[in-house]
Amino acid sequence: MSTSKNFADKVVLITGSSGGIGAVTAVEFARYGAQVVITGRNADNLSEVAKQCAAVSPKGLKPLEVLADVSKDVDCKRLIDSTISAFKRLDILVNNAGKGVFSSITDPSVLDKYGEVMDTNLRSVVYLTHLSVEHLEKTKGNIINISSVAGLKPFGRAFLYCMSKCALDMFTKCLALELGPKGIRVNVINPAAVRTNFLQVVGLTKEQSEARYSEMDGKYPVGRVGESIDIANAILFLASDEASFVTGINFVSDGGALNAPL
Ligand code: NDP
Repeated sequence: MSTSKNFADKVVLITGSSGGIGAVTAVEFARYGAQVVITGRNADNLSEVAKQCAAVSPKGLKPLEVLADVSKDVDCKRLIDSTISAFKRLDILVNNAGKGVFSSITDPSVLDKYGEVMDTNLRSVVYLTHLSVEHLEKTKGNIINISSVAGLKPFGRAFLYCMSKCALDMFTKCLALELGPKGIRVNVINPAAVRTNFLQVVGLTKEQSEARYSEMDGKYPVGRVGESIDIANAILFLASDEASFVTGINFVSDGGALNAPL
């Protein structure tokens, strides 16, 4: 096992791990020996991911499953408390839970949408980080935030999502400054389109979502959109000791999309 992928004895908490990028990331951490804590709002999906993690874990470690809505402060607190109560430590926090939203500035429900997306994509990260620092300082751990290329460039009707991710990027850079002296690294990954349920949650049908990804496949310089494993691989690298000199960076994983004339 290479050093970059040895997470034996590490406790890794991945939010939004009942599906998509978070689920695949949890399975990868489990494959390389970590004790994973998985969380989301859908209990059935969470159990399914837990089975997949246990199946690949070298020691058959069972994940801790915590049903939680990260937009609720009490759930965030319970998530960290449950993790520490079960394992007495936290090594890696992956703030991955997030959602997209389309809105025009003239939309009558713009402030409701603002609250929803900011509470899920940003406030949760601020609070979970706040709660985690004392534990990560003990383990000299690290934090990976999952942003988007939408934090780096504007997209039509997506200003709320873009703002949430742009703020997450800046939060990461500021926290890298504050937490570096405590021995905690903080990095952010900016993916372009990744084939998950993301577009269906935004409101597209399965067929529309698949059509959108197929259309983008041809436009991306590498000839395809991302898969969850692409982002999981980046997360595992940044979380590993081989990235011990890396903090406060935007790691763009986008198949070249950000620089392409799409
Ligand atoms: P999915 O919709 O496939 O998965 C989202 C995950 O987040 C699910 O596990 C969902 O679980 C969880 N989640 C959503 N809202 C909440 C909440 N309020 N409380 C707790 N859990 C929640 O999306 P992706 O895997 O694609 O997205 C993961 C991250 O990647 C997000 O931050 C997204 O912004 C980012 N991203 C995605 C891209 C893409 O094209 N897919 C591109 C760039 C960035 P449950 O429903 O069980 O609560």
